[in-house]
Amino acid sequence: MKQIETSVIVPLFNEETRSPPFLNDLLKIAKKEWEIILVDDGSKDKTLDVIKKYNFPNKKIITYSINKGKGYAVKKGVEAATGNYILFIDADGSIHPSQIENMILQLKKHDTVVGNRNHDESHKETTFFRSSIGKIFNLYARVLFNIPVNDNLCGFKGFKKEIAKSLFNNMLSERWVFDVELFYQIKKNKYSLYFLPIEWEHRDESKINSFEILKILYELLELRMKINKER
Ligand code: UDP
Ligand code: MG
Repeated sequence: MKQIETSVIVPLFNEETRSPPFLNDLLKIAKKEWEIILVDDGSKDKTLDVIKKYNFPNKKIITYSINKGKGYAVKKGVEAATGNYILFIDADGSIHPSQIENMILQLKKHDTVVGNRNHDESHKETTFFRSSIGKIFNLYARVLFNIPVNDNLCGFKGFKKEIAKSLFNNMLSERWVFDVELFYQIKKNKYSLYFLPIEWEHRDESKINSFEILKILYELLELRMKINKER
């Protein structure tokens, strides 16, 4: 069997309308040494039918009936991944897949690479609401976990294989806060971390609504307590 260079994990929850433009673009650039792992996180719409139609050179589909959260979906993807580099990217097209190549270049030099929307060289189009929520969330995460990160939730992160396997194997959280847990573990394990400037375009119909935001703030506190208990 040929060695896969890079595993690209795409978590999808109810993405029948947002994902096709993204998947079309990904199909255009996907290399034969990449594997594309599509994780249907308990979608209630036709996401599964949509993703079945795409003929990537190497494709894996993971699906289950109950929505478990983005963190869980990515973890399932990492478990199935065989590439030397393992990365995940959002399905809504806010990050164009042409940026995957830049990430792979940096993964050759660093243990972990994360897309950063607040980098001086980044270009982002967003709404005032989302950027305010982002700022509050990042400040809160910084205070609770002492991580020097100004963009936690960016849906574009990559790892060397062994590091991805170890990080996700030990993951305590299943939903949005897994992103913060990743940064906490990267710092604790002293993995090298590179912030990749990215182009990012706001996409409507985010799965994060006002109720979800309150839940996330609570889950972050809960995670902090779990981590304290482990030590
Ligand atoms: N997602 C998921 N499970 C969930 C919620 C979201 O797999 O329970 C996926 C979603 O389909 C998308 C990514 O996580 O690919 C980011 O979601 P979204 O764009 O809604 O978040 P935002 O960009 O607003 O942070
Ligand atoms: Mg989005």
